[in-house]
Amino acid sequence: MGPEEAVNIRREAIEKITGTKLENIGYYSLDVKRSTARNIENMIGVAQVPMGIAGPLKVNGELAKGEFYIPLATTEGALVASVNRGCKALTLSGGANVLVLEDKITRGVLFKAPNALEAKKFVNWVMENEKRIIEKTKEKSRHLKIRRIRHWIVGGNVWLRFEGETGDAMGMNMITIASEHACSWIEENYPGKITFLAASGNMCIDKKPSALNMITGRGKTVIAEAVIPRDIVERVLKTTPENMVDVAYRKNLIGSALAGSYGFNAHFANIIAAMYIALGQDVAHVVEGSHGFSLFEVQGKDLYASVTLPAVQVGTVGGGTGLGTQREALEILGVAGGGNPPGINARKLAEIVGATVLAGELSLIGALAARHLGKAHQELGRG
Ligand code: NAP
Repeated sequence: MGPEEAVNIRREAIEKITGTKLENIGYYSLDVKRSTARNIENMIGVAQVPMGIAGPLKVNGELAKGEFYIPLATTEGALVASVNRGCKALTLSGGANVLVLEDKITRGVLFKAPNALEAKKFVNWVMENEKRIIEKTKEKSRHLKIRRIRHWIVGGNVWLRFEGETGDAMGMNMITIASEHACSWIEENYPGKITFLAASGNMCIDKKPSALNMITGRGKTVIAEAVIPRDIVERVLKTTPENMVDVAYRKNLIGSALAGSYGFNAHFANIIAAMYIALGQDVAHVVEGSHGFSLFEVQGKDLYASVTLPAVQVGTVGGGTGLGTQREALEILGVAGGGNPPGINARKLAEIVGATVLAGELSLIGALAARHLGKAHQELGRG
């Protein structure tokens, strides 16, 4: 039986069992053979999400240079219009300047020692043998470059955090497979008593809110910034730089501090989620993508705005990036597939993500400052 037939039989069975007609779930163009081999088990069809476009957005990055049209997949009416407005403000202002400060995916594995003394001896051995351990990871991937192994000890527990670059892949499978292989080698070769307990001990830390990722970063650490001249703030965002600074300071900084949030921003997660769905990224990484700072200042008469995203996990190969829809969306941005040299497409994508997040922040803070938020959602989110 081929995979398409299995999908149909399974969907028909669910239709029968639940008495539900699944004609939309069963209507798709994607390559079932590919997706059932890499992306999904027990497939019955697809979940369609509408995709819109925002832009043009001018980006002045190291790799992303020029004007881009941004694919956004969402069901939140008003989101694409809002990002589009931010893109207009940025592009009229000369674009967003973007930096990728750091690039590393991480896997924090867990070892168990009988006590803290043995745990410390183990960590000393790991540090002495770090080069050999990193060599082991290379046996499982051509693109993975582990840069360092950090460690933490709590009682008799040891966490080793493998950190490295993964070319154009987001890299979670890559680093998991490679670090598990290296840890089995460690367990076999360490002369003392140690147990390799788990390939993830949550010091990675993957898909959970955390101070660790907020402070040390994970994936790409991205900053996007721009100066928006006063007349563009007034004409496009319908408010003033002073009003936006006031709202951003009290909302993004004081409000988020009061709430105990890592999201010192207006809505990074909205843009991250919509881009990740459209572009075949792992959508659960919206957790880390929601972390970060969105800062506004009056400089002269104009508005200076920046977004700092410590953990943008993106790839242009692997995961969902090979699916037909998502590959087309990556092609719109000119980043589909592997780059030459490997890594440049994923970094370029991270720069575009940063610039788009800045567009989203400008528009939402502008709407709040102008008291337009409810009106926009009333008009665009309720048919
Ligand atoms: P992947 O598809 O598992 O691996 C990427 C593959 O592409 C590797 O075989 C790599 O070869 C190859 N490749 C070809 N050209 C490349 C280039 N230019 N740059 C980098 N690699 C290139 O993808 P992944 O990014 O490692 O993992 C993403 C998947 O992991 C997603 O589906 C995500 O949902 C999932 N995920 C897994 C975990 C986990 O715990 N395992 C956690 C979170 C998410 P080489 O390996 O030889 O370099």
